[in-house]
Parts: sequence; structure tokens; C-alpha cells
Amino acid sequence: MSSQKGQNAAYQKCINPKCGAEFDTADVLFECPRCGDLLDCRYNWDKIAVPKKMSDFAKRWATRDNPLDFSGVWRFRELLNFCEDKFKASIGEGQTILQQNDEVGKYVNKKAGSLYLQYEGLNPSGSFKDNGMTAAFSHAKLVGTKTCACASTGNTSASMALYAHSCGLKAIVFIGSGKIAFGKLSQSMDYGAKTIQILGDFDDCMRQVQDVCRELKLYLLNSLNPFRLEGQKTIIYRVIEQLGWQVPDWIVVPGGNLGNSSAFGKAFLELKELGLIERVPRIAIVNAAGANTLTELVNDRKLFWNDGMVNEEIVDKYYADLTARNFRAHTIATAIEISRPVNLNKCLRTIDVCNGVVLAVTDEEIKDAKAVIGKFGLGCEPASAASVAGLKNLVAKGTIGPDERVVCILTGHLLKDPNLTVDYHTKKEGLFSNPPIEVPNDLDQIIKLLK
Ligand SMILES: *Cc1c(COP(=O)(O)O)cnc(C)c1O
Ligand SMILES: [Zn+2]
Repeated sequence: MSSQKGQNAAYQKCINPKCGAEFDTADVLFECPRCGDLLDCRYNWDKIAVPKKMSDFAKRWATRDNPLDFSGVWRFRELLNFCEDKFKASIGEGQTILQQNDEVGKYVNKKAGSLYLQYEGLNPSGSFKDNGMTAAFSHAKLVGTKTCACASTGNTSASMALYAHSCGLKAIVFIGSGKIAFGKLSQSMDYGAKTIQILGDFDDCMRQVQDVCRELKLYLLNSLNPFRLEGQKTIIYRVIEQLGWQVPDWIVVPGGNLGNSSAFGKAFLELKELGLIERVPRIAIVNAAGANTLTELVNDRKLFWNDGMVNEEIVDKYYADLTARNFRAHTIATAIEISRPVNLNKCLRTIDVCNGVVLAVTDEEIKDAKAVIGKFGLGCEPASAASVAGLKNLVAKGTIGPDERVVCILTGHLLKDPNLTVDYHTKKEGLFSNPPIEVPNDLDQIIKLLK
């Protein structure tokens, strides 16, 4: 970990080992200026007072009147030590819960006591994205940004708009046309972001926003931003915290732009290097069948991390093929309706670190899993339910054992996408539809119905 930036606690480093260029944390970059690959936020751990064991972080609970100790992200601040406290932008994110759930466990054929749901819908804007935004906005304050921007399938914009307001920044959101769930769109407008709707899909928005940010020197808040992923590492710290400082056997997470899976792998890698955990769990990353780039590339085209020497030819060929077919990602799980995931290479690193598996599930499987999660536990949005739908498949295949300890990440709140939920129940679209029962405005008939 020695480096030319060795004097600082934190620095940025290109993930491509053939390049490995290093940059100051004060530089605003969303790709390596030398080779175009992704950047990591890295640390010189010997310059940081990292606790000797993870349970030391629990001491912060006694001082939770300090907002940084209360935050479920900054409570772990030594593990994302890239800026001074005065820049940290917290609005109380990360008060999330890990729920052990036997009924959902039964649905996926898991033994009692072995399935946990990590519910990130409890964050201020209703999705896990707040974990990343609090970190990225702290960096935005560090570098003195005035205006920020993102492309979004909805939750990134909701979260960015919320944090921008609290940091006094202007926010510009790019969304695709007709591709955003109502709960999320309402948040972006209500939190006061300038919302630009591009006649295209998320992948189009993602390309445009990068060029707009380069041209107008805006601060980009998509998960290309290495500091966002630093915040998202804390989801893993909280899982470990709630398991009594133990590591599960598996983490199951939906994969869209692959920021979360990338952050999780980095979190485990660092904890292992620091000696704070003894073992790295396995990870399963779940695509929607209509947005299954990662599944195609890893399972069918054998794309691997390969010590950082990712075979870009495989990726270029696949993307050229998508372009030639004029392919558009399509799934009801709009948060993962992405065909060119920007964090692909970092995600490949996670698969390597965590001995990961990748799979895709159908929209029908997602909708039914979502209804089961709603009925028996914590409601969630469709993309979140891909985790449970994926787990069901992996247990059926024997990849995950019935008594292995599994944590599914529920990434967003049920109320993000009310239309889909209402349609599922009222139009009887699935196995768990629970439509309202119509009855005349008449006491006898009502009583008869309820007897
Ligand atoms: C953003 C998002 C995802 C996808 O996460 P990535 O980090 O882009 O893979 C999944 N679910 C929800 C609810 C999201 O908002
Ligand atoms: Zn580089």
C-alpha cells in the first residue's frame, strides 16, 4: 500500500494495474485521466487510528448526541477516512435494520434462523443511496463544489436532491423518459432539483451526464464517483455489527450499475487486510433477466477480474452487439434497468475477492418475491426483491445451502414504486395478489362478507 501519495491518509488510485496512476483526494475525477478506467479511494492505514477490533465501533452509541456518531455511515469513519469532520454531510443516514425472517426464509427453502434481510429502505430518502451520498457530498464540500449532477433511474436523484439541499448545492438530475417510478420522481421535484428528462433510457442519460459534467465542470454523483462507494461500504459494516460482529456466509444483492456490489467487495477486502475480520463471505449478484449484462459477461463470456487485467475485448464486443441490435434494457425493476453498468470492472474485483456468483431472475419472480417480502416482513421496491428471488434460485440449484447464513440486501422502500404494487394486487398478476374485495354499501352484506 505504499505510494507516492504516502504522506496523506487517503488518495485516489486507478484500479487498472497496468496504469495504477495516483491522485490527490482533492482532485475531482470520475475516471482515470490517464487511461479512462475507474478510480478507488485508497488509504495509508498506518496514518489512521483504526480500531483494533470491529466491536470498538459500538462505543460510539454512547455518544450518539454527536451527529457523526449517530450516523450509520460516519460511526465507522476510520474506515472511510478521506476528509476532515468539518466537511462531513450527515442527515442521519444509515439507521437501518437487519431482520431475521423465517417466513421469507421458508419461501426460499432456507432453514429457520438462517435468512436475514438488511433493510436499507429506512434511509432518509428511502434507499441505500444515502449511504453513498453522505460520503460523496462530504467530498463535494471538501473540493468546494457549487453544482452537482447525476443520471438516475430514480433513487440516485432522490438522494442527491435531498443531500444537495442540506449542503446548499444546486442539483441537476437527468432521467430517461417514462422510466422512473412515481415515488422517486416526486422526491426529486419536491427536494427542488432541476429535473431534465432526456428522450432516451438510463444508459443514454449516463453517457450525457458525463459529458455535461466534463463540459460545465459539474460534480458527478453517480457511482462512478469513488467517494460514493466509500459510504456504501458501511452497509456491510452494519450487517456485521447486527450479527454481533460476525460475518455471514453469503451476501445477496441486486446488480444495476454495480456500485453496491463493488463497494461490498472493497469493504470485505479492506476488513480482511486490516485483520478486523477473519473470513470473507461469498456474494451473489442478481440481475433482472431483461438487464443481464453482468450475467452474460461473467457466466457466458467468461469475463474475470484477472488481477485487474480485464479482457476489455469481451466487453467491447458485447456492447457492440447490443448497439447493433439496438438493445434496450427492459425490466419492471427500474432501479436495475441498466445494460452498460459503469462499475463493471470493480464488480469483477468483488466477484474475485468474494468468490461470487451472478445470475438473472425474471420479472415474475421479482414480483412474487416482492409480495412475499411485503406480506411477511419489510416492504421493498421491485429491484430489492431481486435479491430474494435470486436466493430462491440459488438454494434450488444447491449453490447456497439451506442452513448457510444469508443476508439479502433490500435496497429501497416499498413506497418508491406504488403503481407496480397496486397493479400486482388489483390486476391479480401473481401468486400472492391480495386485491380489495368489492361490496355494496350495505351493512348486512358487509357483515356477511366478513363472517
Ligand atoms: C440503485 C439501486 C439498485 C442498483 O444498485 P447498483 O449499485 O447500481 O448496482 C438496486 N436497488 C435499488 C432500490 C436502487 O436504488
Ligand atoms: Zn488509469
